[in-house]
Amino acid sequence: MLLDKHSDKKHRGEGLNALKNSDKKIYELMRKESKRLGVCEEYHAGQFGDLKEADRQVYKLITKEYERLQNTLQLIAAENQCSRAVLAALGSLVQNKTAEGFPGARLHGGCEVVDRIEQLAAARAKQAFCAQYANVQPHSGTQANQIVLTALLERGDKILSMGTDQGGHYSHGMKESFTGKFFDVENYYLNKQTFLLDYDAIRQQAIKVKPKLIICGASAYARTIDFKKFREIADEVGAYLLADVSHISGLIIAGAHPSPVDCAHFTTTSTYKPGGPRGGVVIMGRDRDRQIKVNGKNTALWERIQKMTFPGVQGTPYFNHIAAKAVFFKETLSDEYKARQFKTKENAKWLAIDLLDLGYDVLTGGTDNHMVLINVGNLRKGLTGLVAQKCLEECGIIVNMNQLPYDEKPAMVGSGIRLGTPVVTKNGMGNKEMDGISGLIDAVLKEVKIIGDSEYKIDGSFKEQMKNKVKELCGKFPMR
Ligand SMILES: *Cc1c(COP(=O)(O)O)cnc(C)c1O
Repeated sequence: MLLDKHSDKKHRGEGLNALKNSDKKIYELMRKESKRLGVCEEYHAGQFGDLKEADRQVYKLITKEYERLQNTLQLIAAENQCSRAVLAALGSLVQNKTAEGFPGARLHGGCEVVDRIEQLAAARAKQAFCAQYANVQPHSGTQANQIVLTALLERGDKILSMGTDQGGHYSHGMKESFTGKFFDVENYYLNKQTFLLDYDAIRQQAIKVKPKLIICGASAYARTIDFKKFREIADEVGAYLLADVSHISGLIIAGAHPSPVDCAHFTTTSTYKPGGPRGGVVIMGRDRDRQIKVNGKNTALWERIQKMTFPGVQGTPYFNHIAAKAVFFKETLSDEYKARQFKTKENAKWLAIDLLDLGYDVLTGGTDNHMVLINVGNLRKGLTGLVAQKCLEECGIIVNMNQLPYDEKPAMVGSGIRLGTPVVTKNGMGNKEMDGISGLIDAVLKEVKIIGDSEYKIDGSFKEQMKNKVKELCGKFPMR
């Protein structure tokens, strides 16, 4: 029998009363427990009031950011929107705990609770990725990569990775990055005609370069990555394989993209891109216990990763972030999360189709993930990624410029923009809205008067009109 809310409440009351009469001891324990939990909740409940009183300026700025997020379209592929449960964990007092090391082996007292939080987060991360090892301590995706690199390589060792100008990430060995400064980095390139990964060419290059580490995974690549092929190449040349799946880790968890966990020796990701708190993780599959020789002594790879996390690269873990990771990884196990990842991918596909229909040059002709890369230079002569980003932003559409493979424009200008669908999907938008969004983008990019690589003019009343249209659309899909 279905009970309505009112009677449900009433029945629960009856149950408690019955318990009070039949088992006073258990009843008292339950009451105490809920009172104990209530005190902690009360401690955290006044947070926004406290902030408002203590710092009006920051309070107002956060309010402004809320309004910006609510009233403009978030189409940055590297962004997502975490739940309020994740926000609550981030803003909790576990952030005050100082500890070093890992659960059971800390250098400070009083760690029994944070040990359990970290163990829970790691267990859930393992479950989410079907993995055998998870390290939830990295403060970011970049640091997760630093940990892996320093665990495997000595100064001057060779890395083969995708260049940033091709869609790779800075932490894969860009010259100015920590990772490029200390290691000898060679880049592989996309096929010049198709803009796809060319596994044969990568294999040839790997045979020639003989890297100690191959890195796959990208920040701007819209097609499926074949991790198995990468591993075959790595095995052939005796290299380790790191799969950095920051952008697509949500899809991987949901089964919407093949998983690298048992192909690569190491998998890394940021945790905010799939929709959790800021931070990173290192994941391992079947190579967890493989041995590595360090200073003449054998160590398991996973132990080496722990050591290079602390004291190797980081100091104290951020337990509020680790608690938030635990909350997030629990969310990823839900049907809602998994379905949303497929929907995110579908929305990106629709966006690509709509833009193709409007005459846009969508790189590789579409997408297999959550992002769409567009060459705006091929839409209108002289239009750069930078101008596209700026004029879209003035109209309430938030995207980022992107240097495309073999781009003639410099990185800070670019010929492209990159769109992503995680946030709009989270807020409930679907195919129809993707159609509307591509129409809005098109209206702006065809209206703008191009003056130079970074200069343009846009009519004031047109801008207002567009902003209002965007606001109206977003108003129908409030932040969740
Ligand atoms: C975003 C990204 C990272 C970096 O994550 P941060 O947490 O911002 O440091 C690393 N690798 C790839 C491929 C990324 O896209």
